[in-house]
Amino acid sequence: MNKEVTEFIKDKTLINGQWLEAISGKKYPVFNPATGEQIVLVPDMGQADTRLAIEKAEQAQKLWAKQTAKQRSIILKRWAQLVETHLDTLATVLTLEQGKSLAEAKGEVTSSINYIDWFANEAMRINGDVLPPSAEGNFEFVKKRAVGVVAAITPWNFPNSMIARKVAPALAAGCSVVIKPAEDTPLSALALATLGEKAGIPAGVLNVITASSGQEVGQELCSNPIVKKLSFTGSTEVGKILSRQCADTVKKLSLELGGNAPFMVFDDADLDAAVQGAVAIKFYNSGQTCICANRLLVQDGIYDAFINKLQAALSKLHLGNGLNPETTHGPLINEKAIHKVESIVKKAVDQGARVVQGGTSLPDIGKQFFNFSILADVTPEMDIFKTEIFGPVAAVYRFKSEEEVISLANSTNYGLAAYAYTEDKGRIFRLSDQMEYGMLGINTARFVSETVPFGGVKESGIGREGSVHGVDEFLEMHYVCIKN
Ligand code: NAP
Repeated sequence: MNKEVTEFIKDKTLINGQWLEAISGKKYPVFNPATGEQIVLVPDMGQADTRLAIEKAEQAQKLWAKQTAKQRSIILKRWAQLVETHLDTLATVLTLEQGKSLAEAKGEVTSSINYIDWFANEAMRINGDVLPPSAEGNFEFVKKRAVGVVAAITPWNFPNSMIARKVAPALAAGCSVVIKPAEDTPLSALALATLGEKAGIPAGVLNVITASSGQEVGQELCSNPIVKKLSFTGSTEVGKILSRQCADTVKKLSLELGGNAPFMVFDDADLDAAVQGAVAIKFYNSGQTCICANRLLVQDGIYDAFINKLQAALSKLHLGNGLNPETTHGPLINEKAIHKVESIVKKAVDQGARVVQGGTSLPDIGKQFFNFSILADVTPEMDIFKTEIFGPVAAVYRFKSEEEVISLANSTNYGLAAYAYTEDKGRIFRLSDQMEYGMLGINTARFVSETVPFGGVKESGIGREGSVHGVDEFLEMHYVCIKN
């Protein structure tokens, strides 16, 4: 490990401008999922640490919100610049703790820079409204104010960009934040906090709580009345628990939850583009993203051709340690994830799916590697149809008509991202009307950027991250009526 990477791997966390151990003195290990080696021990924090961070965040927020939008914007811009300067190092830290290839890690850190920079600009555009008077002589207006202290709970699959996408708009709005990164991947959050501090984010405005279990910390973040907003990204199951816990203090909520994305390929599609899209979005981060193509729905006439081309495309990918330059895809996050994917595949096969390739883990490479896999003859009656796979397994279904596939695609409780490949312009408009998803890609599978209102409908969540709407999630409207 080079010296700069070592300097960014922290064994303490940032609370109120100080790098601290847990009050209990406890620590827990962070592992490299490619090798199983321990990278570092980090503080294993609990309720008392969380409460301290919340109280310090409350004091700091009052002053931060008083700064002008321009002052906040300048600090955020400086943060973005520092992340850019240290892009390669942050990407290495990300690969070490999460496993994805360096190329993917650099892409993720770049997206963080874009989010921070975007919200630095959005800070300058937080305007209110002057209303037409509701009675003669009245002067009425609406101000937008920061909600206050924000809790941010993030997952392990994008440990860098999920922080940027929440913290940058919160800070732009004038909020302070207590972040609880995932147990497996706290190091990117700490590296970003290091640079945030250097950029001039005041003490207490950005705080990180590392913990080996989310429950105790989550309980405090959700029940403490000082916290006015929870921004959570993770599974639908945990999102439901947290929203129940937030109910007693009626917190504002943003929930970015699970997905079950359909990827529809019609007979008239550009087949090579569809296969390229499927590889890009199904196998991105080794299949561990909420917008991964979870159900590949392919029309009868091109079904076999699609599978053949998909198999050929997969032969060009390289599984391995993400730090190796030739690696395109890394391991799964932990052994539990391997067992989960194994059992999903086994059940599908027991229920009649056919393994075209893969279907097994690859212990020769490492304990947490799963082979690029294709399952054919998968049907909506199988359990896999309703399951978020979260691994490099392409489950390919067959359909006959447009009506049938729209109904199949929508028959899920999730509604995050959907994809379709077709050259029929009428169909493109019908799909854009009928798909019950927060985001729809037509003839493209990679559309996420800071300009996009990222988020889902149904049980995929509440609220949007990114875009011109992203800051609104961290603001409250205050109406004022002045009687003449
Ligand atoms: P997860 O198990 O829900 O965990 C997410 C975060 O919540 C982690 O920081 C976790 O901490 C914490 N957590 C877990 N149980 C908790 C509890 N009872 N109280 C408070 N915090 C708790 O999800 P994951 O496995 O990390 O991530 C995968 C899921 O996230 C998938 O369902 C995926 O679709 C979804 N996701 C959604 C989006 C989106 O934008 N919609 C983006 C990425 C991922 P620990 O790590 O300590 O358990």
